[in-house]
Amino acid sequence: MMFDMRIFIVALEKFKALIEEKNSFLTDLDAAIGDADHGINMKRGAARVVEKISGKDYADCGELFRDVAMTIMSVVGGSGGPLYGTFFMKVAQKLGTATEVSTEELADAMTEGLAGVMSLGNSSVGDKTMVDTLTPALEALRKNAAQGGEAAWNSAVSAAERGMESTVSLVSRRGRSSYLGERSVGHQDPGATSSFYLISSFRDAFLNK
Ligand code: ADP
Ligand code: MG
Repeated sequence: MMFDMRIFIVALEKFKALIEEKNSFLTDLDAAIGDADHGINMKRGAARVVEKISGKDYADCGELFRDVAMTIMSVVGGSGGPLYGTFFMKVAQKLGTATEVSTEELADAMTEGLAGVMSLGNSSVGDKTMVDTLTPALEALRKNAAQGGEAAWNSAVSAAERGMESTVSLVSRRGRSSYLGERSVGHQDPGATSSFYLISSFRDAFLNK
């Protein structure tokens, strides 16, 4: 089973729907340790992405994900915009002219996306950011890809969820929440949470849920 451009568009539509549903939860998480805009930022970004890509014919995955990245960078403020924008730009560069990709190839492309996030944000695992969700999720996806898409995606979503939950007990070292130092402990990171929704949306689109 492969991902094609139609499934990618469905994945991004599912992400938009999930972000809309969880908008106020994301805002509450960001209110506790940031500036209460993550839900609003992500909701606006995901809506504009879907507006831009739905029903459009793309020549290849590179063109599709470049459109996603540019839209996010132009409409999402704060740190979330450049970080998610970079993630999708790296995915676009890696997938290039492909029109169909395997779970393994997508895992590799998203791993480049994560590397872009870490380099732009100067962040690593344990800093209480989206990196704490994406790193274990993509490791699980790559490790299990050979077993077939379904097992790999389910393991990626479980790993993403554990990664997201791991941010609760961490002291923030990056972004606005780092200004709180020890007081950031006990709160789940908003970006780690929206990244969990991203991985879940790709799983659901792939498994046609
Ligand atoms: P802002 O912090 O500018 O208000 P958002 O609220 O949209 O932007 O996004 C905050 C999220 O961005 C955080 O929860 C965190 O996951 C992520 N983030 C912030 N800074 C970094 C960084 N340097 N590296 C990786 N992720 C980061
Ligand atoms: Mg914020």
